[in-house]
Amino acid sequence: MNTPLEKQVDVIVVGAGFAGLYALHKLRAMGRTTQVIEAAGDVGGVWWWNRYPGARCDVESLQYSYSFDTALEQEWQWTERYAAQPEILAYIQHVADRHDLRRDVRFNTRVESARFDPARERWVVRTDAGAVFSGAHLIMASGSLSVPRLPDIPGIQDFKGKVFHTGSWPHEGVDLTGLRVGVVGTGSSGIQAIPQIARQAAQLTVFQRTANFSIPAWNAPLTPQQQQEFKAAYREHRARAREVGTLYEFSAKGALDVDARQREAEYQRRWDKGGVNFVHSFNDLMVNKASNDTISDFVRARIRGIVKDPAVAEDLCPYDHPLGTKRICVDTGYYETYNRPNVKLVNLRKTPIERFTSNAVRTSDAEYEIDVLVCATGYDALTGAVLGIDIQGRGGLTLREKWAHGPRTLLGLMTAGFPNLYIVTGAGSPSVLVNMVVGIEHHIDWITDCLTWLEQWGRTTIEPTVQAQDRWVDHVNAAANATLLPMANSWFLGANIPGKPRVFMPYAAKIGIYRTECQAVADKGYEGFITGGPRAAATKAATTAAAKEVSQ
Ligand code: FAD
Ligand code: NAP
Repeated sequence: MNTPLEKQVDVIVVGAGFAGLYALHKLRAMGRTTQVIEAAGDVGGVWWWNRYPGARCDVESLQYSYSFDTALEQEWQWTERYAAQPEILAYIQHVADRHDLRRDVRFNTRVESARFDPARERWVVRTDAGAVFSGAHLIMASGSLSVPRLPDIPGIQDFKGKVFHTGSWPHEGVDLTGLRVGVVGTGSSGIQAIPQIARQAAQLTVFQRTANFSIPAWNAPLTPQQQQEFKAAYREHRARAREVGTLYEFSAKGALDVDARQREAEYQRRWDKGGVNFVHSFNDLMVNKASNDTISDFVRARIRGIVKDPAVAEDLCPYDHPLGTKRICVDTGYYETYNRPNVKLVNLRKTPIERFTSNAVRTSDAEYEIDVLVCATGYDALTGAVLGIDIQGRGGLTLREKWAHGPRTLLGLMTAGFPNLYIVTGAGSPSVLVNMVVGIEHHIDWITDCLTWLEQWGRTTIEPTVQAQDRWVDHVNAAANATLLPMANSWFLGANIPGKPRVFMPYAAKIGIYRTECQAVADKGYEGFITGGPRAAATKAATTAAAKEVSQ
């Protein structure tokens, strides 16, 4: 029986960022009726929410863009090497206008629950506005970094000043002129915002728990010639990006294969060019700790060279994780900011925050009065948005129960017991480890190819087997363990969220390898997946497998 007032479509998509919009565009072209549901007031995803001063991409603009619209990639003029948030948002809005996408998006609406109805083989989705939608397929394009996390610091509710999170920055902007500002958090967001805030605020106090490695962006306007040269070879560049993610200059040598002078020269050459390319100076930096020590030492020496006060410089030097094992940061004048007279660094490892008072942050040795607190404290990454929805699959199995000990997927795309539920750039896929627009386009193409295949073969449901899923989870763990990545307490592992299971979530393989693995599964008739016949009731095998998994 239909739920009253239920709007029925072929496919429901949660989220209208890069992923949701491309999904809608493709599904429409395939003739599938689609409803996108988006909590924000417009398209853009993270670029709609993250309006903090200094927000910009750290994958170069010409690459951090869709490849599917080949005319647009020629027409669109990026103004800077790394576009700022307003320009990226304008680009996504332009894509929505150009392809008339907004008419199928329900904005200002949050999905609260999704239940699979096995009798109808449909997902029934309920929103915070009380609306009900149903679709044969449900695509979670809800983002990997879309659930901002405020710090659990005692007394924060007593603080009477304004509190902002970088990931939900007010649209009207925040005038910090003449104010005493505190920033908690020195990841990519904090490192971008701090230099900008320092210019406005009367006094800026940065509360740093973990020092991070940051590489200069050397951001600059893109010249017409740079654009023309890149655009002339766009097809080749896009094809290469599908293999490697971002077009860095990859090295064929290990860091210890050359002498110290050559190594230093290579690090300096790349430092002078700027950006994440630096991390690819040698091919073993992410697998060999001794090699990594050489690049980590190089950056620490640069920090000491930039920051005039040696004690502050030392506090800014990361020692507790190898370079690159936390997401590397890219900055404009970050370390230089600490030479300003109005900026103070508080090392929370030495003097932890004890509590907030109504007008200050109290650490173990001092009290810092502030008018405004900026939390650049990150996200409940990868699983936060998906688990934020009460998702119920076959036999009443909820995703929250199933993933209580960490996410389990096949290819990062689907999970056993949840037929026709697709997750874009989810845990178990390269996701946040690569240029995410490349990963997003790949996932949407895989999902839409899968829908076409199901139709061709008269199948109505698809979901992984538990066995194939278990093998994939082992494979993802092995890939991470072959690198230095698990050595950091990073959000890749869920370490930033108290109580979150510590599982290395992204798949640490080159995206080209991953694409080949995904294609091989499809070519073998979706090997590792169970498919159901036309309007068949839930297959016995799938139900038994899901039930077995709950009882494990
Ligand atoms: P998002 O852009 O996160 O969009 C998901 C949308 O889903 C959001 O708008 C959210 O409101 C909505 N949503 C979530 N849950 C619900 C719900 N229950 N109901 C309704 N709507 C919901 N990646 C790079 O590759 N390069 C970069 O330079 C880069 N820079 C970044 C800078 C910042 C500040 C941040 C936060 C991330 C950055 N990223 C970068 C990663 C970024 O997440 C991806 O590049 C990309 O924008 C993700 O697009 P998406 O559509 O998958 O998700
Ligand atoms: P993040 O990397 O998770 O950094 C959060 C920071 O807040 C860390 O320094 C963390 O310290 C600190 N923190 C959290 N809780 C705290 C507490 N209770 N007390 C003190 N400090 C606390 O988050 P993010 O900077 O928002 O970046 C998240 C990801 O988004 C990035 O890694 C990147 O993928 C993407 N991003 C990209 C860009 C870009 O340059 N294009 C910009 C912004 C974001 P600990 O490390 O000790 O936990």
